[in-house]
Amino acid sequence: MIVDYHLHTSRCGHATGTMAEYAAAAEKQGIAEIGFADHFPLELLGFTPQHRVNMPPEELDKYVAEVRRLQSRLSIPVRLGAEVDYLPGREKETAAALARHDFDYCIGSVHFLDGWDFTHPKEVKRYAKLDIDELYEHYFALIRDMAASGLFDIVGHLDVVKKFAHFPRHDWSSVVEATCREIKKADLCVEVNTAGWRAAVKEAYPGVMLLRKCLELGIPVTLGSDAHSPKEVGSGLRRAVLLLARLGFREIATFCSRRRIMRPLFPL
Ligand code: ZN
Ligand code: FE
Ligand code: FE
Ligand code: ZN
Repeated sequence: MIVDYHLHTSRCGHATGTMAEYAAAAEKQGIAEIGFADHFPLELLGFTPQHRVNMPPEELDKYVAEVRRLQSRLSIPVRLGAEVDYLPGREKETAAALARHDFDYCIGSVHFLDGWDFTHPKEVKRYAKLDIDELYEHYFALIRDMAASGLFDIVGHLDVVKKFAHFPRHDWSSVVEATCREIKKADLCVEVNTAGWRAAVKEAYPGVMLLRKCLELGIPVTLGSDAHSPKEVGSGLRRAVLLLARLGFREIATFCSRRRIMRPLFPL
């Protein structure tokens, strides 16, 4: 059972291809279900980033309408999702903005630390000046606040702070433990995001240590390629399913109207 719940569109300004092309690529590969999760307009949450990395606010209704049109044309379920930044202090604005559309799921992601767009290739110089252990503490504290906010259904690329292959020097298992406990308490799902295999770090998000903790605590998982072009649709998802199976996962989460439906990883 392969789903791809993390598809971008050219509306965010750094992805290519039409939504119909993403959908056709998924159908062709036999993916059971897809969901678009383009970058939700930050301006609607009261934040203007250094680089434009999201849909402009005026594109949101068109995005929703285009997903609806595809739903009636495709042979597989097409879900309406969004990848939404967790911005501390903006919870009320975020809840209000998300309530305006009937999303099937919202992926909560952290891409900014005190305004620093730390996954942006143009902003990598800053890593050299930082204590990576402290950076991880800071990043995962935000993830815990995001979980506690109750705004989202899925944690996006849980350990994307490793994108450029920076890892803590000291044991950080207590960070993993505290973070997964908070995710479990909030009843959130974690996506296995295969973009990490295409990034400098060459590891899926999240890594095995976090995935094992998710399994131990009974945190559900889902799948996403984070495709920014039609050719990236489904990328690494078979490998992700095999990884999950090897670790002992038996189910994957799907979503409809912000309700979670667990499906067998290997249907009979
Ligand atoms: Zn993007
Ligand atoms: Fe992201
Ligand atoms: Fe994404
Ligand atoms: Zn992403």
